[in-house]
Amino acid sequence: MTYLNALRCTQCGKEFEPGQLRYLCDVCSRDYHPGMPLKGILEAVFDYEGIRRAWDEYLSAFPEACEQQKMEELCELFSPVAKEHYPNLPVGYTPLIECANLVAEPLYLKFDGVNPSGSFKDRASHLVVAEAKRLGIREIVAASTGNAASSLAAICASAGIRAVIFTPAKAPIAKLVQIRIHGAELHKVDGTYDDAFAQALEYSATRECLNRNTAYHPYTIEGKKTAGLELFIQLKKSSGLHLCAHRRRGDPGRYAQGFQRSEGSGTDRKAAHSGGSASREFRRHQLLSGNRILPGC
Ligand SMILES: [Zn+2]
Repeated sequence: MTYLNALRCTQCGKEFEPGQLRYLCDVCSRDYHPGMPLKGILEAVFDYEGIRRAWDEYLSAFPEACEQQKMEELCELFSPVAKEHYPNLPVGYTPLIECANLVAEPLYLKFDGVNPSGSFKDRASHLVVAEAKRLGIREIVAASTGNAASSLAAICASAGIRAVIFTPAKAPIAKLVQIRIHGAELHKVDGTYDDAFAQALEYSATRECLNRNTAYHPYTIEGKKTAGLELFIQLKKSSGLHLCAHRRRGDPGRYAQGFQRSEGSGTDRKAAHSGGSASREFRRHQLLSGNRILPGC
């Protein structure tokens, strides 16, 4: 059982049944062409009242629950895929380390390097692979410059699912090795990430597979939000300044989404940090959410 009600277009608000494989809004994505920012990205809509009731009941029934148990419960309540479909890997629930005497204000580091492939991206890959298992799909394709690809390759290997990766030929050699070690099929594209992205779309359009391209499949966003949910438990709140290193896509927005889900009303003050090259989609999402975007440092 899940509390997922629908997938909603972030542009026009049209809602879709979540039971079947779906990527973008069929109306807003008509204008999309490879190389452009994605249009009609979908976000999950949950039964928030149902989750609130279930969460309150859990806290009443288990007042002595430890931090780890609370994180697992909250992430499960906000998962769009039932727990039984997830590969049996230790993804998420990562440590929060306090850095004493480093700066005047309390500073904590969320250590996602302990995930199976050493990356934050495992959160999204874990959920996407669970969704593929739920749908009975045996092949997943993705475009990536490195971390998302090696993450998908590792988690697919654990679930016995074939992974097909399109990556720019100039991707870091360590990542290419990691992808191959896990047995994924690797296609090096003579071009940019956008070219690899387009080739992955072309590949999945003609095959019975699932495409894990970031933001193209809505669960790549849903998977990463678990980091924000965990911080809500670990910090006992979602307020404060959150710093997130990233390259070009909306990873800080995924954290913010977790904060918003855990707070429910989204009225708590939040701030996210961009590395200075945030995508238009991320900036729009942050500004609509009342968050601040700070210049790179
Ligand atoms: Zn739409």
